[in-house]
Amino acid sequence: MLRIALQKSGRLSDASLKLIKECGISFTNGTGKLKTVADNFPAEFLFLRDDDIPRYVADGVADVGIVGENVVVEDRSAVTIAQKLGFSKCRLSIAIPRGESYQGIESLQGRHIATSYPNILGDFLKKNNIKATIHEISGSVEIAPSIGLADAICDIVSTGSTLMSNGLQEVEVVFHSQAVLIQTPTLSNEKQKLLQKLLFRIEAVQNARNNKYILLNAPNEVIPKITEILPGMKSPTILPLAMEGWSSLHSVIQEDQFWEIIEQLKAAGAEGILVVPIEKMIY
Ligand code: ATP
Ligand code: MG
Repeated sequence: MLRIALQKSGRLSDASLKLIKECGISFTNGTGKLKTVADNFPAEFLFLRDDDIPRYVADGVADVGIVGENVVVEDRSAVTIAQKLGFSKCRLSIAIPRGESYQGIESLQGRHIATSYPNILGDFLKKNNIKATIHEISGSVEIAPSIGLADAICDIVSTGSTLMSNGLQEVEVVFHSQAVLIQTPTLSNEKQKLLQKLLFRIEAVQNARNNKYILLNAPNEVIPKITEILPGMKSPTILPLAMEGWSSLHSVIQEDQFWEIIEQLKAAGAEGILVVPIEKMIY
């Protein structure tokens, strides 16, 4: 049985559970339960504080886990990243009081910086030849400058609204993070096979999220032009319509190219364009 560690409650929990569900793995989870077995996959779930996940996985208490890359890198436990998961994206940034002058990274020389990420920050400062004093604090980092504890902070930012409301401005991005699936360095053959099975499913879910199925109608004479615009998995499926001289084309397009492609298709003469979500996608 594969033991999977997930965050019990927090910013990773909902998206982690959604991914597991979309991988077709279901379980009944009584509220407050710390451990549960999947109904239809040889897996057991452990619900933990996110900070504990890298160590549990490194120690082999759990075989794999879903956690923020920031926590994995900071923790320095011996785990490997099996897959980046594309959700809970955020960055670790240095911020200083708003209105204070900043002439680039040299302005941090000799300063005091408060953070919960002393290792990541320490590496960043070293790489940039900055000598600063790091104050490790475990929470409410953003108030450190206003209470005179530090000149700057290094903390997680997603929209920047927390910085804003604490009178801080972001000056350096130290690290880009997203949720990752980590694995213990030594897995038995049997567990390795289960992990491969899980990774195969995760990939199918991720591909589906990044792609859309597109259907459109077009006069036959513009089919070559439209085929050129549609990248698709291979070539588009082309079906004749009951209306003489017209066809229906089906293909797959990437989410990030979506609007640009739709405009080009319209300009080329496509009509009745339908775009539908894909549930799973295997190349
Ligand atoms: P726990 O109680 O499990 O220790 P926590 O309070 O330490 O939880 P959360 O705030 O739930 O942690 O954040 C978990 C992870 O989610 C972070 O390590 C980071 O990778 C990511 N994260 C944090 N803040 C944001 C944000 N604003 N937007 C997106 N992702 C975020
Ligand atoms: Mg935590």
